[in-house]
Amino acid sequence: MDNWLGLDPRPRLTDEQRSAYERDRAVARSHSLNQTTFTVTLFYLIYAAVDAMLLGDIVWLSLSLRFGLMLPLAMALSQYQMGRRPIARKEAATLAVVLSGNLVWCIVLTASESPAALHYYYAAAVFQMVITIAVRAPLKITLYATLCCFLLNYGFIWFLKGVSLDYVLYHLALYIPTAALTLISSHQLEAERQIAFLQAHENEALKRELSRQNGELERLSVTDPLTQLPNRRGAEAELARLRRWYRAEDLAQSALLLIDIDHFKAFNDNYGHSAGDACLRAVAESMRRELPDAIHLSRHGGEEFLALMPLADSARAGMFAERMRRAVRALAIPHDHTGDRNRHVTISIGIGCGSIADEASFSETLDAADRGLYAVKADGRNGWHFGPPAEGERTDAA
Ligand code: GH3
Ligand code: MG
Ligand code: MG
Repeated sequence: MDNWLGLDPRPRLTDEQRSAYERDRAVARSHSLNQTTFTVTLFYLIYAAVDAMLLGDIVWLSLSLRFGLMLPLAMALSQYQMGRRPIARKEAATLAVVLSGNLVWCIVLTASESPAALHYYYAAAVFQMVITIAVRAPLKITLYATLCCFLLNYGFIWFLKGVSLDYVLYHLALYIPTAALTLISSHQLEAERQIAFLQAHENEALKRELSRQNGELERLSVTDPLTQLPNRRGAEAELARLRRWYRAEDLAQSALLLIDIDHFKAFNDNYGHSAGDACLRAVAESMRRELPDAIHLSRHGGEEFLALMPLADSARAGMFAERMRRAVRALAIPHDHTGDRNRHVTISIGIGCGSIADEASFSETLDAADRGLYAVKADGRNGWHFGPPAEGERTDAA
């Protein structure tokens, strides 16, 4: 029994949604309202010809009221609709002009002595249709306009020549269903518009959330969860970016710094894995602090890190290696199990100078850094070393 008309229930809009909905439809509504005004006015003026054909005795009254009063009023309305004002006011003004048109029409018809006026008066239902179907204001104001329209038409009906109670009943038999059905369809349209708006709104919100989550997922996939530095995949993405942004000749003079925490296995074994994790975090943070943003530092794996220094000479690479070494030593994390003279956590850094422009040259430069690291480890750790050239090694080996 709740919804015996079978209407779509109106969605419940929050205040915020309602004002967004009103904003959303205001521009489109203004435009369509203006077009509707033009079309309806045109019909209204053309109907002067119908007046002339059916009611010969009131031609001048009809022409003067339709063209002298209603046409200027419709033009003023059109100007009003084009201004920047709330859509609700524009709709109210439009309904007022429609009711004025209805009033003028009633005056013209009741002024006529012709019996044809009785038949013609059935066209009163058209004004009701203009209110509900053409103007399509929100339901509440449409109901008020419907009531005014009803009072006008059935106030004037008694002044028609030859009117009888039967006639009024016949008239109502057409008018009431027209009013009811057009009101229902107006309500239905409004409900559908609101549902479509809510769906579009929800889709937008979902899209935003999805793209936020995608961004977060992308960040997580290139971030090492322990140190929050980029991981190996992050370094690969950075390399790809550098190769996109710079020419191979520019990337030919670059440096790779391979950083390894000294005696870290012993640290883990003696102080525990959690202390090892905390140490990794502290070392990563202190190294990151020493480097400018342009130098990409990533966790290369285990207790090893990699710094990418594009467009850098060996002097610059050495300078940053020394800064990082000092910074980690300055953390003064005790490590009594190094087995050498160092009693604190330290790092060793191998520096490879060369190209990073493609995979082959990158891996050569990384090999050089690895050789440099090996050299520091052999040299007592807590230091940095340039990777000896591979040719040199081959000569030594020979
Ligand atoms: P060296 O000075 O020659 O580099 O010796 P090292 O002990 O540092 O090197 P080794 O490769 O033998 O040991 C590395 C250790 O790093 C072994 C492993 O337990 C530890 N490690 C690697 N990843 C993690 C981690 O995520 N957390 C902790 N706590 N330890 C890690
Ligand atoms: Mg290692
Ligand atoms: Mg190590």
